[in-house]
Amino acid sequence: MTERVEVGRKSDWQPWAILGVLVLALAIIVWFANRPKPELGAKTAKTGLPLTPEQRSVDFQTADLTFEILPAQKRLEGRAILGFLVKSPIAKLQFALDPELPIKSIAADGKQLADSAWKNDDGLVTVNLPQPKHAGERLSLAVSYGGKPHVAKRAPWDGGIVWAYTKDGRPWVATAVEGEGCDLFWPCFDNSQVEVGTVTQHIIVPKGLSAPSNGRLLGVDKLSDGRTRWNWRARHPNNYAIAIDVAPYQLAQTSYQSRYGYRMPVEYWYLPGETKSAQKLLAEMVQTIGFFEATIGPYPWWDEKMGVVETPHLGMEHQTINAYGNNYKLAPEGFDWLMNHEFSHEWFGNQLTNGDWDDMWLHEGFGSYMQPVSLAWLDGRMVYDSAMFKQRQTIQNKFPIVSGRHQTEEQVYDNKTGPGNDIYVKGSWVLHTLRNLIGDQAFWTAVRREVYGRPDPKPGNFQPRFGSTNEFEAIASQEAHKNLKWFFDVYLRQAHLPRLITTRQGQTLSLQWQTPHGLPFPMPVEVQVDNQRQVVPMTNGRGSLTIANPNSLITVDPDNKILRQNDAIDAFRDDQAKNRARTSS
Ligand SMILES: [Zn+2]
Repeated sequence: MTERVEVGRKSDWQPWAILGVLVLALAIIVWFANRPKPELGAKTAKTGLPLTPEQRSVDFQTADLTFEILPAQKRLEGRAILGFLVKSPIAKLQFALDPELPIKSIAADGKQLADSAWKNDDGLVTVNLPQPKHAGERLSLAVSYGGKPHVAKRAPWDGGIVWAYTKDGRPWVATAVEGEGCDLFWPCFDNSQVEVGTVTQHIIVPKGLSAPSNGRLLGVDKLSDGRTRWNWRARHPNNYAIAIDVAPYQLAQTSYQSRYGYRMPVEYWYLPGETKSAQKLLAEMVQTIGFFEATIGPYPWWDEKMGVVETPHLGMEHQTINAYGNNYKLAPEGFDWLMNHEFSHEWFGNQLTNGDWDDMWLHEGFGSYMQPVSLAWLDGRMVYDSAMFKQRQTIQNKFPIVSGRHQTEEQVYDNKTGPGNDIYVKGSWVLHTLRNLIGDQAFWTAVRREVYGRPDPKPGNFQPRFGSTNEFEAIASQEAHKNLKWFFDVYLRQAHLPRLITTRQGQTLSLQWQTPHGLPFPMPVEVQVDNQRQVVPMTNGRGSLTIANPNSLITVDPDNKILRQNDAIDAFRDDQAKNRARTSS
């Protein structure tokens, strides 16, 4: 019966089958044309690979970058003019560029090179120079390239370019390449140790769209085909801080008068229809600069602008044009944590940059500590403590924050190979503990010196700089007038936290620090006995107190000044993780 029905239907069915096959074939063609890009090549995916000897032989002084953004085709056409000062002789030079953006031509000092003079080896382009360059000479490389840049899978964590649309269907484009690096859309040295002296961008966008970017706006040109070209210039941006943002933006702007005497534009680029929320965020931005300047020091880009741009992804610390995608979420503290966090990176990340990715907690630990610190100023002690307690619950202690070895971005951020989230939350708690140990005066002076390289920063007397954990340890020790190696060794260079063992026997309360490998840890501990507080010095990691009354109530570290092992928090954290695994599997 089944068979007969089939045969009987066959004559009606055949044309539909043909149409079906055609539709399927068309679908395959469309899918093939838009198929997901292959995974990034190994070299392109990594950020912070060691510089080549030739790269170390030059000073990367200027980058003049033209980007033609074609949202309809999801394409980017680029032309980059890279300017170098040669420090020691070279016959070739390398830069990084994703092979998915094929190079069309390269010129050296204005002369077109034969295609055989360069090759892109899995993301590292080597250019043989027409003649060797000597120390003191200049070299200019002009690179034309273009194609479909790597699309972000989950920006900003798995980064790339984001092709999104506004509610009314207009293009909304962003880049977020902290993890994968600048080589996803321009030829660069993909290493945090290199910052280009001056970066000029010319971003060409379809009619009706705007392209806010890093630094100062030099001007907007109208092209004959109706498109516009947005010209921007920034000094010393981090490589991963150079960003493209394109949308039908509106601009909320004001100006900021600094306690340091300068006046600067403050800009928030947002999507149409959000004017009320945008004005509120703009006011919060101005308030935040004032607080950060009072607490740390002058805004590092005082001669450019403070800029924030609305993005389809959550956020990123793009210098003077921070990415903001927090949707003006309301919080009981009346505070936008995302804006505050990304803004903190203007100091911790953009002004002070890690000397190696191993020191990334200098960006994220300090950056994350600034939210509780800002809250304490805005709304008092309760919200500071509440924010710290939230951070405390997610500390993992699986890997040390600092390994003491060269690390790539990926090694540090992956929770399976490195500290991952601990560079944020444990880093923040290490700073909280340090501040309580050495006091506000020494702590903030040490932070200021680490950020600016001097204790008395003023606009014009400092430059962006690279820093390291060892350097901060030395500065904090100087400011505290004591050697703090024990503090940094235990908190940053060991995975496990120090544990405080307390025993009460007769009239004696004994305290003892237990540390990985028995490392020294003379961390003083405050103890409250009924209404009386006293500090136990804990020389050699031990101390004791006499408690006359057996009924006295005792609280160790009553203000939670010290980061230490806490079994209840660990059990809670592991239980939460188990529950998450259960609901997601
Ligand atoms: Zn951050």
